Amino acid sequence: MYAGASLHIDSGAIAQNTRRIAARTGAAVMAVVKADGFGHGDAALAALRNGATWLGVTSIDEALPFRWRGIDAPMLSWLNPLDADFAAAIRHDIDLAVPSLRHLASIQTAAQRVGRPAQVHLHLDSGMSRDGIDRAEWNALCELARLGEAAGLLKVRGIMSHLARADQPGDPATRYQTLLFENAVRAARHRRLSPSVVHLAATAATLTDTRTHFGMVRVGAGLYGIDPSHTTRLRGAMTLTAPVTLLREVPAGTGVGYGLAYRTDRRTRLALLPIGYADGVPRSLDARAGVQLNGRRVPVAGAVSMDQVVLDIGDLAVAAGDRATLFGPGDDGEPTLADWASWAGTIEHELVTRIGPRVSRDRTAA
Ligand SMILES: *Cc1c(COP(=O)(O)O)cnc(C)c1O
Repeated sequence: MYAGASLHIDSGAIAQNTRRIAARTGAAVMAVVKADGFGHGDAALAALRNGATWLGVTSIDEALPFRWRGIDAPMLSWLNPLDADFAAAIRHDIDLAVPSLRHLASIQTAAQRVGRPAQVHLHLDSGMSRDGIDRAEWNALCELARLGEAAGLLKVRGIMSHLARADQPGDPATRYQTLLFENAVRAARHRRLSPSVVHLAATAATLTDTRTHFGMVRVGAGLYGIDPSHTTRLRGAMTLTAPVTLLREVPAGTGVGYGLAYRTDRRTRLALLPIGYADGVPRSLDARAGVQLNGRRVPVAGAVSMDQVVLDIGDLAVAAGDRATLFGPGDDGEPTLADWASWAGTIEHELVTRIGPRVSRDRTAA
């Protein structure tokens, strides 16, 4: 055990979640390991050994370290500036998403320099108004990509898009986006492109709507135990703990923390944890927020500071050095990430990707 705040990563949970999700689809599974595996560190191997066959990341900078480590699974990078190092991606067999005509031109220039075709996935914006090319430009992109193929500069290996409201199962926006996507794939094939992997769904759609699966699903959140659709029980892979460093006894009416926003309503005891918003604990929490300490749920008292959280522990038997669990998979009644997301008015994804660098990490193997 570490002396300070500590994050335990359970690679077994990532393995188990990957198997469960892979069993729910006939499509290939891309493990989305962007943002340091959603803050979990190395998740790629656990996913690849348990049913995932592709890796997905945002930038080329995120993709390259996997190749340096000798991981040679097919990999897609989908979000890059126009002047990104596309040549490095091509040299390292990293597929590139194409979200604009200008990106296509930059990638082709790089391919010419490297002397090898780039493997690309044409990226359609099917209604989210975020990443991907406008529908109005889709046919032009397909035409130019076909010319690029004829010139030996690229191969259209995939077609992709992303869903805006898949976390609301049955929402008509998903059906509509899916139909637009199918049309776009048809238009591409009509222009003699022959993508081998067509992909639209992320975790929520993978778990709730098989019509979105096509040839591959891109699963991030689900690997880490997060189901944005709240339909499937997956296993949380993080446990965040911190030791009690100080105890004090205070009378009723004592103000706690910045702003003295919390007042004790009785004679009680307070326990201090050395973890705060710099370590990823959300600063604004509602009154339900609490942690698990010596088998009991105890409330957070007052505002979370940069480095500190105070607990109102009443008469609970606690000694300095006892460890509190802020969140975990829920096995021992401890709060879960879903609880914290609800208390903080955010989503679990934001919490897991923001655990600060001061928190020590350890992991159990898959
Ligand atoms: C992050 C991301 C995913 C993974 O989404 P989850 O909901 O975490 O499964 C899939 N596709 C794209 C384009 C993404 O940016």
